[in-house]
Amino acid sequence: MNKQFDIGVESLNGDTVAQPESRQAPLPLPLRGGLRNNSREQAADAGAGATGKSFFIETFGCQMNDHDSEKVAGVLQGRGYRAVGTPSQADLVLYNTCSIREKAAQKVFARLGDWKTLADGKIIGVLGCLAQQEGEEIFERAPWVSLVCGSASYRKLPDLIDQLESGGRRVTGLDLDTDETFETDITRRDRLLSAYITIIEGCDYSCAYCVVPHTRGPERSRPSEAVLAEARRLADVGYTEIQLLGQTVNSYRDPGPRGWRFVDLLRAVADVPGIRRVRFTTSHPNDFTREIVEAIETVPALCNHVHLPVQSGSSRVLQAMRRTYTREEYLEKIGWMREASRDISITSDIIIGFPGETAEDFEGSLSLLDAAQYDAIFSFKYSPRPNTSAKDMPDAIPEEEKSRRLAILNERQRQIQTARYEKLVGSTFEVHTDAHHPARGVWGGRTSCNRLVNFSTTRESLLGQYVQVKISRASANALFGEQVE
Ligand code: SAM
Ligand code: SF4
Repeated sequence: MNKQFDIGVESLNGDTVAQPESRQAPLPLPLRGGLRNNSREQAADAGAGATGKSFFIETFGCQMNDHDSEKVAGVLQGRGYRAVGTPSQADLVLYNTCSIREKAAQKVFARLGDWKTLADGKIIGVLGCLAQQEGEEIFERAPWVSLVCGSASYRKLPDLIDQLESGGRRVTGLDLDTDETFETDITRRDRLLSAYITIIEGCDYSCAYCVVPHTRGPERSRPSEAVLAEARRLADVGYTEIQLLGQTVNSYRDPGPRGWRFVDLLRAVADVPGIRRVRFTTSHPNDFTREIVEAIETVPALCNHVHLPVQSGSSRVLQAMRRTYTREEYLEKIGWMREASRDISITSDIIIGFPGETAEDFEGSLSLLDAAQYDAIFSFKYSPRPNTSAKDMPDAIPEEEKSRRLAILNERQRQIQTARYEKLVGSTFEVHTDAHHPARGVWGGRTSCNRLVNFSTTRESLLGQYVQVKISRASANALFGEQVE
């Protein structure tokens, strides 16, 4: 087994209440031994390095960004660029950025600052949400940057790269007004055991705190035929797990002749021969229907995990946030899942300290944790963002108070998770093995519910395998056990 497969178990045991904000894309990894290759991946390999030019891409933010980087890398490799492991080795250095909170944006500017005196001869580019948000301002703040391109313009990347190659100094792709999606001939796959497929881009909601509609543009879905073709190709090269992506994945509406809704697509992807697990993220509560729960109940390949961000437990704050549902409506949908014949794990996002959030509103978020019984939450202090309607709202909550509330919320959730995970001791789960820590003799993987399981076994070469694990111990974030077959 290739050494690159070995992922430390501890790296999977991260704090579940915080999301990583930057990841450097690894070098393209070889396909798993024994799996069939396909022409797309072969094309990527063949093209790599043909021009003698190299690139490095660092990704900040969400899974959508991770996958966009895989596609951008595919575009570059298709044009003969070779991926390298450090920015200093690269001719073209790209930052695929996030601007969801101020801290994420600051990190990108710090990274750009590193090139102030070193950029000589290199092309530095800024992609993603910060690129769209700051536009040509980036050239003012970091004159050594040559490319600024938001995700709604990625389909123009080949043209933009042409312009750079023929000596263009400052090229931009900042058009937001589009009904097109980013289709690539080649997508580099950085994840070996689970593959992303974007099914919907942009967002048509207008949550008061959120930059996404301004950075990713209007909602546009990909034709179901294109999604299914991609799923079949992934199954052909050996992927058994697929994760469907979209900022509001369940708002999906097939623009093709079938006119499918999200649930139709979900069932069809789960039906692709060779696919054993289908995940999807992020679901918007407004578009979350009973049919989705029924599909999870009846189709074993659909993972029994739903990420359903609530943002606040107070209907008053939800209204101020323009979330389009009340606490009661949200909890009704949680009720559908709790009544389902399959155990469905639910996770959520919560914002603390939205302007005007009173002690009573905050209590509402705490009591919602009790009512919803989440398996995990991602909790954030509200961060005022440009181009959002909440930016200048009165009654801002002081930072110290936000921190105080966040700590209380996280502690309440930790207690809930500890109790929930403790109840799973003695159960047996199917685990998709995706990590190995040889020094400790421990393997790691995920249940269909997306719970992290660390386990011991007498077997070898388990990566990518689905195994049964009996749970003997639990912590707030993980389960521990032994393989039973
Ligand atoms: N589309 C998803 C939804 O509607 O729930 C959320 C996508 S957003 C990229 C990811 C999360 O970032 C949100 O669920 C929210 O909790 C958080 N977030 C977005 N804007 C924020 C802000 N201004 N301050 C703090 N957290 C924010
Ligand atoms: Fe942002 Fe709201 Fe759209 Fe989610 S639904 S991406 S929070 S505007």
